[in-house]
Amino acid sequence: PAAEQAVLDRVPTGLLIDGTWRSAADDATFPVVDPATGETLLRVADATPEDGVRALAAADAARAGWARTAPRQRAEVLRRAFDLLQDRREDFALLMTLEMGKPLAEARGEVAYGGEFLRWFSEEAVRIGGSYSTNPEGTGRAVVTHKPVGPAFLITPWNFPLAMATRKIAPALAAGCTVVVKPAELTPLTTLLFADLLLEAGVPAGVVNVVPTTSAAALSEPVIGDPRLRKLSFTGSTPVGRTLLRQAAGTVLRTSMELGGNAPFLVFEDADLELAVEGALLAKFRNTGQACTAANRFLVHEDVAEEFARRITERVAAMPVGRGTEDGIAIGPLIDSRAVDKAHRLVTDALHRGATLRTGGHPVDGSGTFYAPTVLTDVQPGSDLLRDEIFGPVLAIRTFRTEDEAVTAANDTEYGLVGYAFTEDPARGQRLMERLETGMLGLNTGVVSNASAPFGGVKQSGLGREGGGEGIAEYLETMYTLTPDP
Ligand code: ADP
Repeated sequence: PAAEQAVLDRVPTGLLIDGTWRSAADDATFPVVDPATGETLLRVADATPEDGVRALAAADAARAGWARTAPRQRAEVLRRAFDLLQDRREDFALLMTLEMGKPLAEARGEVAYGGEFLRWFSEEAVRIGGSYSTNPEGTGRAVVTHKPVGPAFLITPWNFPLAMATRKIAPALAAGCTVVVKPAELTPLTTLLFADLLLEAGVPAGVVNVVPTTSAAALSEPVIGDPRLRKLSFTGSTPVGRTLLRQAAGTVLRTSMELGGNAPFLVFEDADLELAVEGALLAKFRNTGQACTAANRFLVHEDVAEEFARRITERVAAMPVGRGTEDGIAIGPLIDSRAVDKAHRLVTDALHRGATLRTGGHPVDGSGTFYAPTVLTDVQPGSDLLRDEIFGPVLAIRTFRTEDEAVTAANDTEYGLVGYAFTEDPARGQRLMERLETGMLGLNTGVVSNASAPFGGVKQSGLGREGGGEGIAEYLETMYTLTPDP
C-alpha cells in the first residue's frame, strides 16, 4: 500500500494542454477505480469538448515547429523516453495493475512491450525515405518525398493502457506529427504519468496534449470535425470505429482503425499438444482474456480434442484468481461489472445450447469484478460466443474433421484480426498463411505482438497497421514532384 500510494502521488491529475497541466474548463473531475476492490484511486480532470478543441489548437500551433525539428532530434527525444521508462518500469507496471487489474507480471510485460515502440520508432524516425526516378517516357524525373500528415487525434482503449498509447504516440512523433490523446476513461492514469515522462524526455509544449474525459463522444465530435485535424487513430470496438469513420468522412480525414477480433485457434491432429496448450493459455488468458487478439474460438481436430481439453482444463482449473498486485496471480478482475455480465451471459447461452462445462462458469463472489476461468467443450454452432468477442477468461472448444472444414469455420466471421494455428506440418502452415482471412497469424505461437511487426486486421477488424515500417507510414503524406528531363 505504501508503494501504491507513492506511485499514485506521482500521477498528474490535470489535462495536458500546450505543455501545462490545467483543470477542465468547468473544473469537473471524475474518479478512477481499482476494479479489484471497487475503490477510487484518484480523481482526474474531466475534459469538456471546449478543452478538446483547445488541445487541438495547441497541437496545431506546435505543428510546424515539430515537423521542422531534425529527425535525429525527434529520435533522441523518443530514445530518452524509452530510457526513462526502463528506469520507472515498476511504477508504470504497478499503476497499470491498479487502474486496470492485470496481474503485475503481465503489467511488467506490457511496460517492456509498450517501451519497444519508443525504441523502434526512435530508430525509424531517421529513416523516412523517398525516391528519385525517371518516368517510362524518359521525359521527366519524379521526386517522391514524405511529410508529416499533421495534427493527429489518438483514441485509446483501457485494456493495454501503456502499449496502446506508445503504439500511437511514438510513430506520430517520429513522423513529425503533433497529437491530442484521449485515453479511455476507465484507465487514464498511465497515459497521464507517461505524458509527464514525455515532457521530461524533451517533448516541446503542444506536441503531446492529453484530454481524459467521461464525454468521449461529445469531445471527439468537434475535434474530428475540425479541419485543423489531419489524422485519426483509434483502437477500440468495431461499432465505435464505424461511428468515427462516418464522422471522419466530413473532413476526409486519414484514419487508422484497430477494431475488434474473433480469433480462431486451430489445433490440428499433427500438433505438438504441449506447445498448443501453452500457446492456448497465452492466447486466451493473457490480460484475463481482455485483448482484441484473444483467441475466441478453439477449433480442435476430433482425434486430439479430448486430450487437449483434458490438459487445458487441468491447467485452467489451477489458475490463481485475485488482485493483480498479489504474488502469483494469473487471473485478475475484469474491467467492470458489465464485462462480468457479458462473459456470464455468453457462457450461459453456450450451455443452454448444449455445451459441456469443464471448469469455472461463474462470477466470483466478493469485492471486485472477477469471473472464474472457464473451459467449455462441445460448443454448438449458433452459440453467441462463436460470434461475439468474449473479452473474458472463457475458453470455448469445437471440433473439426478436415482442414477445409477448419479453415471455413475460422473464416466464418466479419472479423479478421489474428488467427493461431498449431501444426507440425510446414506445408499445412503455408496453406494456412494463404487461406486464413486475418491480418496476422501465430503459427505454433500464442502471441504475435511485436513493435517491429505490422499489427492490424482485415475485414471489419480495421484499417491500417501499427508497428513495423508500416506504423510510421500511417502518419506520413506522400508528395510527388515532377521535373522535366534535365
Ligand atoms: P471498449 O469496448 O474497449 O471500451 P470502446 O470502443 O467503447 O471499446 O472504447 C475505446 C475508446 O473509444 C475509449 O477511449 C472510449 O472512451 C472511446 N469512445 C467510445 N465511444 C466513443 C465515441 N462515440 N467517440 C469517440 N470516442 C469514443
